[in-house]
Formats: sequence, structure tokens, C-alpha cells
Amino acid sequence: MDWDRLKRAVELDGKRRNAKGMVRIMEAALGYGRAGDVHHRRDAAGRFVIRINSNHDAPTKWATLVHELGHVYCGHCGRHERGWWPDRRKLPRMHQSMQDDIREFEAEAVAWIAASRAGIETKSTEYLAAKVAPLDNERVDVDAVLQAANHIESLAPTAALRAFRADDQF
Ligand SMILES: [Zn+2]
Repeated sequence: MDWDRLKRAVELDGKRRNAKGMVRIMEAALGYGRAGDVHHRRDAAGRFVIRINSNHDAPTKWATLVHELGHVYCGHCGRHERGWWPDRRKLPRMHQSMQDDIREFEAEAVAWIAASRAGIETKSTEYLAAKVAPLDNERVDVDAVLQAANHIESLAPTAALRAFRADDQF
């Protein structure tokens, strides 16, 4: 199952001998309205902690994980300790609500790119179209989005995801 494959690949990513990886994924019963989230604080081992709703099916978990990884890899939760991505918890000269909108847009754009490359249809297209109008588009970091999407694809290559699509109705 490719949800498990992506989850494993993410948790092994950046792992060195005697050291933990960069991201910890927890599956938890989060209730109906919440697909997942990423903590603002890292765990004791310095890992970013992502929660995924265990009540959801595998394709939904996959899409949720990719969105939350978008937040992590775009620097929304702070910098990578070896400088793979910068700290973008605060975006300068921008109202807080606009910063939040930009970050949600970037994370969803990462999810959209990853899903599209994998041949998976999601609701991202409608979401992004609805969100883009009020945004200060120039503040969206397109490079960060593409790098994040590329990194996710390097962890779980598209060919595998295409096979995944054949097994599951999205
Ligand atoms: Zn988000």
C-alpha cells in the first residue's frame, strides 16, 4: 500500500546512524472535521510532528500527509537544521491573516503538484482557484513549492503512485 510506503519513506528521510529522521508521523483519531495537522513545536528528537486522522482511508491520508509535508518543506514550521529549507514562520511586511493564507496556499499547491504528477485527482484545483484571488500572489514562494513537491516525489516516485491509483478510487 503506497500510503505506508510514503509514510515510511518520509520517516526515514534524513535519518543518519544513531539519529532519528526529520519528520515523525502519528496516526490518531482526530474527529470528523480534521484531516491532519503539523505541530508548531518539534519533539524531543527535533523532529517535525505530523498528525494524520486514522479514521480516513489511505488515499485521503496520502493527500493529507503531502499537504502537511508541504508546510514542513516550505519552512512554515521553521528551518531545517542543516539548511535544506529556511525558516518561513514569519513572512515580513504582511498581515498575519495574509501570511496564513499564503502558507495554506503553498502547502496545498505542493499537494496539488504531487497528486497531479501521480495522476491522482483531488479537490485541490477548486481550492486553489478559490484561494488565489484574494492573495498577494507575488508573495507565494514558487521555488519553495516546487522544491517541496520534487522532494516528495523523490521519496515516493510517481510510477509507484500510479500503481496505487489503479487499486484505489480517489
Ligand atoms: Zn495546511
